[in-house]
Parts: sequence; structure tokens; C-alpha cells
Amino acid sequence: MPEPDCLVVGAGPAGSAAALELARAGARVRFLARPGPRKKACGGGISPRARIFLANHFPSVDPGRALYAMEGNAPPWHRNLFEAKKPLLWLADRTRLDAAFVEEAVSAGAELVRARVSRVEWDGRRFTVRTDQGAFFAPALIGADGAAGRVRKSLGGRVRRRAVALMKTGVDTSRTADRIVFDGLPGGMGYGWVFPTSGGKGNAGVYSLVPRNSKAMFSLLCSYLSWRLGKDPKAPVTGGNIPWGGHRMPGDVPALLAGDAGGFADPLTGEGVYQALFTGRAAGRAVALAGDPCQARAIYNHRLSVFRANTALLRFLAPRAYKFPRQGGRLLSLPLVHRPVTEGLVRGLDILHTLALLPGLFIPAALDPVILGHRHGSFLDVVKRQATW
Ligand SMILES: Cc1cc2nc3c(=O)[nH]c(=O)nc-3n(C[C@H](O)[C@H](O)[C@H](O)COP(=O)(O)OP(=O)(O)OC[C@H]3O[C@@H](n4cnc5c(N)ncnc54)[C@H](O)[C@@H]3O)c2cc1C
Repeated sequence: MPEPDCLVVGAGPAGSAAALELARAGARVRFLARPGPRKKACGGGISPRARIFLANHFPSVDPGRALYAMEGNAPPWHRNLFEAKKPLLWLADRTRLDAAFVEEAVSAGAELVRARVSRVEWDGRRFTVRTDQGAFFAPALIGADGAAGRVRKSLGGRVRRRAVALMKTGVDTSRTADRIVFDGLPGGMGYGWVFPTSGGKGNAGVYSLVPRNSKAMFSLLCSYLSWRLGKDPKAPVTGGNIPWGGHRMPGDVPALLAGDAGGFADPLTGEGVYQALFTGRAAGRAVALAGDPCQARAIYNHRLSVFRANTALLRFLAPRAYKFPRQGGRLLSLPLVHRPVTEGLVRGLDILHTLALLPGLFIPAALDPVILGHRHGSFLDVVKRQATW
């Protein structure tokens, strides 16, 4: 391929979505990813909005196992179990998912190069990406290289905030085989999760909105798993940072950042796959539409305005939700709250649209409710009833 119109660094969901969009628009695109098989630490949770995105843009990609029941608890005070007739979450094998994204982008015409990026430069006219396989050049650049973001760092940018998550895979989830579980963590500012992927096995981990040192996270993970699964299983621990709250880049550098590289994850849940797909596609579209990289940045910012407003709202809500888990758990047990909220969730709405449409969401919730059953109780209540949950 001669010099491409755009270089994309990264072949996760953000990079593949950007490359796919550019290739479909007829642009010459080269995307770079580290060599070797990819093992990204990830729960593999695919939300309904991510599922809708996949159906629209990656129709051949399998979102994984659909789950129809969810526990949303604030132990030891308040526990909720919801049973729905539409999936509340899909659980995908992340390695397979990433490979499928790459395949789709390549079959649309994007060129994949396996190379480790060490540095990126901008000379006012074009970008130079230095790698262990030589240097690559292009007039436009999308940085989709994840939380550690070599593109961002080289060009003097930074992300605003970081959450952190630690998990174990291949753990026995037979106690909660039919449902996804979210438990507010003692001390606030995070939750523990159990995702049963298949055959009584799955992954479980802890998410913290505020960064904690690795020792504190590790002991949080061990105590959560012992409590929730009955024992702390022997399995390798993986994890990483989840940047949120957006990013800052020097004004004169027109690189576009997408996904974790741009700090786009949802701070409330740590969800990042949908955000990576969405921002990756928006970045690809902006470059494809624009005449020059500066115009691309303006188009990209414009396309992300609602997304950013949503993030700003979550930035306000997330710390408060984690500070008062008991009240949150209670609130969620009220049909007047959880019915419209779950209607919004299964329809793939973000928090801003859910709040804006709240009155309207009562109508489908009343006529054709998604939630078929809801049980809630206090900790003591559940100790007595756990066998039947
Ligand atoms: C423990 C954990 C659990 C999570 N669980 C979920 C979940 O259940 N659901 C969910 O939606 N989100 C989850 N997330 C968040 C989600 O995984 C990320 O937000 C998402 O992967 C971001 O996608 P991305 O494409 O921006 O970056 P990544 O997926 O990190 O992709 C980065 C790409 O850049 C490439 N790259 C990086 N550095 C270089 C380099 N120097 N040279 C060349 N290539 C490079 C990599 O090879 C890769 O292809 C979780 C995160 C963690 C840490």
C-alpha cells in the first residue's frame, strides 16, 4: 500500500471500528497492533447498546451468551434480583471478539501491520509512527492503543482519571450460573462482579472508581471472591486501568484519540467496549469526511458532543452512587425506578437519554414489561433465602 490516508494505532474494539469505518468509506487505512496473540483483561460484558452497535456495524460478530437475570446488590444491607425477558447482558470471549473485529476490518480493505509502536511525531504536515518494524507516515492519525496510550503520551496528551479493575478467569460460578452479579463493595467507590460465561465457569473481579495500589486491589479481590464464591479460587489474576473522564491534547496536534486511549470508559460501570466501538467509529468517520486533520478533529468533537454530555453526567453521578450504595440499592428496588431504567437499559439507551425519556419509558414498562420478576431483601433475609435465589 502507498502512504495511507490514515494510520490507526491499536486493533482493539476502538482501532478496528475506526479502521473498518475508514475502509468502508473508501479511504486507504493501515492499522497497527502489537505482534502476538492478544489477551486483554476483560470481563467480556456486552451491554445491550454494545449489542445494538455490533448488530449494525459488525453483524457477523457473535456477542456471546445472553443473560436474563441480574443481581444488583449493596451487601450487607440490600439485595436485588431482577429477571427479565430480554437479555440484560451478553458475555463474550474477549480474545475471540477482538479477532473477529480485526477480521471484519481487514476484509473491508484495511491493512493490518503487526508492529510495536515506540514513538509518534507530528511535524505540522504529517505524522510519523516509529515502530520495531520501521517508520510509518500518514497525514491523519487515530490513537486507539488502549489505556497506556503510546500515541497520547508521545504527543503530550493525558487522560483525566483512571479506574482500576482486577479479575480472575475460569472460576467456578455454579452458585450464580444463571445470572450476572454486581455487589457494591464495602467502603464504597466500586463493585465486585461475577460473570458466568459457560459450563459453570466464568470470570469474577473487582472494580474501583478511584485508583488503589495493586496490593490493596489484590486483597479486595481475594476477600470479595472468598465471600461471594465460597472460596478464593486458584487462578491467574489479570487487570488494568480503565481511563475515564476524557483527555487533553495539545491544541496544535490533530491526532484523534478513541476508546481507552482517550479516556472514554463509563465511570459508573467500567464498561469500555461499547465506548471504544462508538468513539473508534466516530473518529474513522470524521477522518473520512474531513479534508484535513484539523477539520477531522472539529468533526470528531462535534460527533462526540452528546457522548461527552453523557460522560459528564456519569462523572457527577458515579462517585455519589458509590458513596451511598445502600440508598442506591433501595432505590433500585422500587418498581417506579427500576422499570423505566431497565426499559432504557435493554433498549440500549445511555443514562442521559434514559433520564430524558423517563416519563415515556413508563409506557412500555407498563404495557410490555421487560422485568418479569424482582425480589429484594436485606442481608439477613437473603441468608435465609439464598438457596432459592
Ligand atoms: C479487568 C477489566 C475488565 C473489564 N471488563 C469489561 C467488560 O466486561 N465490559 C466492557 O465493556 N469493558 C470492560 N473493560 C474495559 C474494556 O476492556 C476497555 O475499555 C476496552 O478494551 C477498550 O478498548 P480499546 O480498543 O480502547 O483498547 P484495547 O482493547 O486495550 O486495545 C488496544 C490496542 O492497542 C494495541 N497497542 C497498545 N499499545 C501498543 C503499542 N505500543 N504498539 C502497537 N499496538 C499497541 C493493542 O495491541 C490493542 O490492539 C474491562 C477492563 C478491565 C481492565
